[in-house]
Amino acid sequence: MSHHEHSNESRRRFLKVAAGTAAVAAAVGLLPKVARAADLPHLTSADPTAAALNYVEDASKSTNPKHKAGDVCSNCQFFQGKPADAFGPCQLFPGKAVAGKGWCVSHAPKAA
Ligand code: SF4
Repeated sequence: MSHHEHSNESRRRFLKVAAGTAAVAAAVGLLPKVARAADLPHLTSADPTAAALNYVEDASKSTNPKHKAGDVCSNCQFFQGKPADAFGPCQLFPGKAVAGKGWCVSHAPKAA
């Protein structure tokens, strides 16, 4: 192998490593952005309060007899997101985001 070929090979290897490092750096750089965009962690039934209040992410799947058709988090007075938000904060679950289409037994219609 001539000296020229050898340095080309090293350069190819270096570029491969560099590309991999850049990809990792880019992914790490994205993390804070993703966390901001996702806002708060989504409430799940693994949360003891959510379970106690029969929270469901899809109101139409609620089996709670108190659930009335059409009642969803986004029309509940405790929902802090905008009406069209897929997820938003709820006053009853600080630090979590509830589904706009979700529901729990504490649902109270927004004052008109
Ligand atoms: Fe949804 Fe209202 Fe229950 Fe909060 S209190 S989880 S907004 S139904």
